[in-house]
Amino acid sequence: MTPPPEPDHDEARVAELQAVLDSVTDAIIVLDRELAIQSFNTAAEQMFGRSKNSLRGHPLPLLMPPPAVRQIDAALATLTGPDHRPRMVMAGEMPVRRADGTEFIADVRISRTGADVGSRFTMIVRDVTESHMAFDCLEAMNRKIAESLSLQQTVLEGTSCAVIACDTEGRIVLFNAGAERMLGYAAEEMLFRATPLCLHDDAEIAARARELSDELGVAVEPGYAVFSAKSMRGLADEREWTLRHRDGRPVPVLLSLSALRDDAGQVSGFVGIAHDLSEARRLEEMTSDFVATVSHELRTPLTSIRGAIRLLAADASSLSAPAARLLEIADKNCSRLATMVNDILDLEKIDRRSMQFDCRPHSLAQVIDEAVRSLQPFADSFAVRVDWQAPAGDWQAVIDAGRITQVAVNLLSNAIKFSPRRSCVTVGIGHAAGGLRVSVRDCGPGIAEDFRSRIFGKFAQAGSAGLRGHGGSGLGLAISKAIVEQHGGTIGFDSAVGHGSEFYFELPFESVAAA
Ligand code: ADP
Repeated sequence: MTPPPEPDHDEARVAELQAVLDSVTDAIIVLDRELAIQSFNTAAEQMFGRSKNSLRGHPLPLLMPPPAVRQIDAALATLTGPDHRPRMVMAGEMPVRRADGTEFIADVRISRTGADVGSRFTMIVRDVTESHMAFDCLEAMNRKIAESLSLQQTVLEGTSCAVIACDTEGRIVLFNAGAERMLGYAAEEMLFRATPLCLHDDAEIAARARELSDELGVAVEPGYAVFSAKSMRGLADEREWTLRHRDGRPVPVLLSLSALRDDAGQVSGFVGIAHDLSEARRLEEMTSDFVATVSHELRTPLTSIRGAIRLLAADASSLSAPAARLLEIADKNCSRLATMVNDILDLEKIDRRSMQFDCRPHSLAQVIDEAVRSLQPFADSFAVRVDWQAPAGDWQAVIDAGRITQVAVNLLSNAIKFSPRRSCVTVGIGHAAGGLRVSVRDCGPGIAEDFRSRIFGKFAQAGSAGLRGHGGSGLGLAISKAIVEQHGGTIGFDSAVGHGSEFYFELPFESVAAA
């Protein structure tokens, strides 16, 4: 025999059901066909900001503006249709209203409940404000990404630079329009098929591998590694290369290489941006040819004018004093012009890397001694004393004596011409950490802070140098730097404005030891 049900069994089930309903976060509201609210869960009270009393028995329009109520009505009509199908409909998203009058967007679905068809309906209301906001955010982000992608694409395709990206194995994954124009290949024939090695000469790759091995202290294979070795270590890698156009002609470029990294910071590939230097090279060559031609053309007539002036000046007795003075000025100006023409020709040789050096063992002290002697008349004309004691001992170095004399003469003549009258210029030779050091110290105006970084540049002269009548071309130090560096040495200066300068150059032990 079945035991009779416990007296509070129904009550317990109702309480259990209510507890389940109250544990969900969606609002659950039971309505009758007249849209009066019959029951609801705790989430409904919280979502609409209403107490039990302000919900129970009240009409649904309390919670919704008229368009939403119409949407609900239509849904109920579907549920109570003649074939009583379906049991549930999605009423869709609609605005609903809190007790304080604020509205939010809710997703509403309704199902039929109750024993009599069409007497009771359960409405499940989900607040979709956050998912809407997330969606809006996502949409805004997508728009931004699309904009930035289109910007990148426009820049990538519009730039005249060749942009080539590769994966870690060296396969080309990006070959922009600039690369197509510069190198004559179509992107399709390069993408995922070729590596950048096909754009380079083997010899240049091999030379770069040796250079990188020395610089990084690890063996760098002469292959794709030459493009990745520095950038994968986070080092800047920008240098000139000669690429090969599809038709075989060389294309000089300035190529800068960077590593691409994924979210985790791992290297995922490399990108190279190449700037075509062909036009710049052509212009440089034209300028250099022009300068060389003009300078050569100037040198021959200048030599003959100078010869004529000196011939006339030699017969001083036949000249009046003003005429002799004029010849003296003309001779000085000829000398200045000759120096300038020679400087320009030297500079042009340096630029073309065609300056010849005849390096042999020489006594550096003797070279300096000769430079000082040759400038003695110049120092006298400025009333400047040159303090130089040729040191005892062996100061042998492997140098081009003529070129090192040129450097010493330049430093010394600068020191003399920038020194106050009756002051002293001190020339010294000694040992330095790197080899031998020659220094020239003066008590002149010093080098202004803002001029220091430019002083070794071509045609560099401090603002007032010309005005004070020191003359010169602003080329001497640029030439001296190139000569010293060609010997593997360094040139520099220390200076305090108003307290003079010390210019020096150092020749490395190798050239000294080789002697
Ligand atoms: P130049 O002397 O023919 O102008 P340089 O290249 O030898 O060309 O020197 C460049 C400039 O550097 C000079 O014009 C001058 O402004 C500055 N300079 C060089 N040496 C000295 C020095 N010893 N004292 C002050 N300024 C100097």
